[in-house]
Amino acid sequence: MKYLDEFSDPQLAGNLIEEIKAVTTRRWSIMEVCGGQTHSIIRHGIDQLLPDEIEMIHGPGCPVCVTPLEIIDKAMEIASRPGVIFCSFGDMLRVPGSDKDLFRVKSEGGDVRVVYSPLDALTIARDNPDRQVVFFGIGFETTAPANAMTVYQAKRLGVENFSLLVSHVLVPPAIAAIMESPTCRVQAFLAAGHVCSVMGTEEYPSLCEKYEIPIVVTGFEPLDILEGIRRTVLQLESGRHELENAYPRAVRAEGNAAARRMLTDVFEVTDRGWRGIGTIPDSGWQLSPGYRDYDAEHRFAVTGIHTAESAVCRSGEVLQGLIKPHECAAFGTLCTPRNPLGATMVSSEGACAAYYLYRRLEVSHA
Ligand code: SF4
Repeated sequence: MKYLDEFSDPQLAGNLIEEIKAVTTRRWSIMEVCGGQTHSIIRHGIDQLLPDEIEMIHGPGCPVCVTPLEIIDKAMEIASRPGVIFCSFGDMLRVPGSDKDLFRVKSEGGDVRVVYSPLDALTIARDNPDRQVVFFGIGFETTAPANAMTVYQAKRLGVENFSLLVSHVLVPPAIAAIMESPTCRVQAFLAAGHVCSVMGTEEYPSLCEKYEIPIVVTGFEPLDILEGIRRTVLQLESGRHELENAYPRAVRAEGNAAARRMLTDVFEVTDRGWRGIGTIPDSGWQLSPGYRDYDAEHRFAVTGIHTAESAVCRSGEVLQGLIKPHECAAFGTLCTPRNPLGATMVSSEGACAAYYLYRRLEVSHA
């Protein structure tokens, strides 16, 4: 398949690994920002093929994992209300809230529906004018344009029974927060290629400069990731700290102009809580004043949420790269994808799920 098979070529992968080995002279810690990259690294054993000196630290770039517990609990409160049709992508239904998940809400009679696009939720709203239809709009800069476009369409079409429960987060402020942490061990980043395909790369050079870190925009196939690591190590070894684009087939410096215009119109930047990490200033989007009527949090005025995180789940440390998933005592025993205690075990991009899917036999005997 074009753009997949040629980026998994074993011969070329071997060449890149040899190049990385040849230039590596000391220990380096590199964080891949995106959970999709984490899964690719673990699935293909890329971290095991690298020289021992290079440690891959798994970053917080899993949108399901970082959606704050308070928003999850609000989603369940809204979805439980009579007259509400609550629409979401499927992976959010099993994310544990304080005492249940959206599947439980559905089993208790809530009208919770899995959709494949926010526009599907808008269609449901138009087909059910006497019901309130809410779409759970989470994710990074990648998923935000489709959600923005749906709200724009709802307003344009005069669909007043549609609203968005928003929890969008932004990558560059998260990189800054990681670098500001006193426990930070990260020396370079593989930036998330799909995020940059939307937003471009203009926000990254100042981060390279301020924190003296290389940032290499990287894709998701094995050769993409190895090329990103190769470029990162070359910079580290030569003392450079620059932005490089190793994913030029998808990313341009200016990003996607139409998507960015839509985002600027519909959203505005706000402080945002990250599950397991805390509030990061200016790290998220909320609906701008012109679209505030479509904000589910305002429409439903949910109050009295008292969040309670699992006492054993260490997903906050996993998300900050402080521990690997199998260092959590519950990994693979109390916590599995069928019975997840934390969002990082639920999501298809979560680090705990990646280790469970591809590494559990190795790490359980380690
Ligand atoms: S293995 Fe489960 S309990 Fe442990 S950190 Fe991951 S999600 Fe949380």
